Amino acid sequence: MIENISQLPPWIYSLVGLVFGLMVGSFANVCIARLPKKQSVVFPASHCPHCNKPIHVTDNIPLISYILLKGKCRNCKQKISLIYPAIELITGLLMAALFYRFGFTWECLIFAIVVPALVIITMIDIEHQIIPDVITLPGIPFGLVAGSYMNGMWDSFLGLLVGGGLFWLLAEGYFRMRGKVGMGGGDIKYIAAAGALMGWVQVLFIIFIGALAGGIFGAIGMGVKKLDFLSRIPFGPFLALATLISIFFGGSIIDWYLDTFMPKPL
Ligand SMILES: [Zn+2]
Repeated sequence: MIENISQLPPWIYSLVGLVFGLMVGSFANVCIARLPKKQSVVFPASHCPHCNKPIHVTDNIPLISYILLKGKCRNCKQKISLIYPAIELITGLLMAALFYRFGFTWECLIFAIVVPALVIITMIDIEHQIIPDVITLPGIPFGLVAGSYMNGMWDSFLGLLVGGGLFWLLAEGYFRMRGKVGMGGGDIKYIAAAGALMGWVQVLFIIFIGALAGGIFGAIGMGVKKLDFLSRIPFGPFLALATLISIFFGGSIIDWYLDTFMPKPL
């Protein structure tokens, strides 16, 4: 008999996470479409991007409606982009993994707010080359409160300073040397919030992994598409990916690194 919630089998957590994540993913689609235009994410209700007809609640079930309607608007029969169900599915799977990893804990609740924000940031930065203030600015106090709860106030505050400070210096240095903006203000605000949330060690990890992933992608891009060096590749998606890795595996990767490469006391 299950006496308390911590005795539930793990797949129940994943299932709850998946269903919850699919719904959140549907809302993430609204945010991705509207935040860059500074429109309300609440009103009006979702409508078809082609014919503008409001989508009925029963046609707005994440993933399922897309399959039932065969990817077409019920009214105008125009094709609906595969990106919408893909975002729902990705958010659903990430939330399933999150709930599996953390169970019904405060950490899970904190990251259940962060993970969809990472999905939204990624898509908006790819499309518009911005990370919206409406996410990063509230993200800083959120990061400080949640980070203080998880890692202590000192670590959270230091994470904000290390992350934000490092990126600010890089941006300022690049601007003075080249006379043009290299790194955007959105990246600085983002990494400050991520630092406050994850602490100073993890924010260095996030910057390292983000730069590595961005560098690899940039090198492939230069080879394949003949992008010239420093042509503007949005950094947000790589930082978001690195933050995701930090949330799920950051602690264990750093423990492994310290165990393997740091001299051990005799
Ligand atoms: Zn339509």
